[in-house]
Amino acid sequence: MQLLKDRIRRDGVIKPGNVLKVDSFLNHQMDIGLLNEIGKEFKRRFADLNITKIVTVEASGIGIACIAAQYFDVPVIFAKKTQSVNIDGDVYSAQIESFTHKRNYDVIVSKKFLNAQDNVLLIDDFLANGCALLGLIEIVASSGANVAGIGIVVEKGFQSGGEVIREMGLRLESLAVVERMDAETGEIFFRGE
Ligand code: 5GP
Repeated sequence: MQLLKDRIRRDGVIKPGNVLKVDSFLNHQMDIGLLNEIGKEFKRRFADLNITKIVTVEASGIGIACIAAQYFDVPVIFAKKTQSVNIDGDVYSAQIESFTHKRNYDVIVSKKFLNAQDNVLLIDDFLANGCALLGLIEIVASSGANVAGIGIVVEKGFQSGGEVIREMGLRLESLAVVERMDAETGEIFFRGE
């Protein structure tokens, strides 16, 4: 998606540890015009799927998922991060290791909101090592629902997540795939350019 790549080149900041900061337009301050275009693009790419729900993880996936959901006309469910173990058995849960914060946390989704009839689109802002997505996939699988597609805004192609997810046979669409980024020069290279 050219508009997105141009914006990443213009306003993205490369941080040590292979972290790309896009907090001036995507996941802290949010450019709603751009998010609208991202939502439309996800709809265009997944138009053939009969999506019934969009699932994401808090916090930075929520805004993107909500705007995309208006084009699919479906509810959004965000997996909640939690410290406490749920013993009632009324939630699906998975453990996720945070790439940016380097720690583990549990995410939960209430069993009320996902069931075996659902055809789910997973959405997130970044794909790095794939841990967040694997957690969401585990939650959807526990509910018996189908992961029909996965929409990612920025995939870091030099990390393993994209390969792992595609090897599982899942339909993954990333709107921008960063192949390499140079913290010293500030250069960003995208797949397919
Ligand atoms: P993964 O679980 O695929 O290793 O990492 C994905 C999660 O970590 C995303 O939900 C995102 O919030 C965060 N993340 C990973 N890499 C980056 C990055 O380069 N920049 C930002 N802003 N977030 C990242």
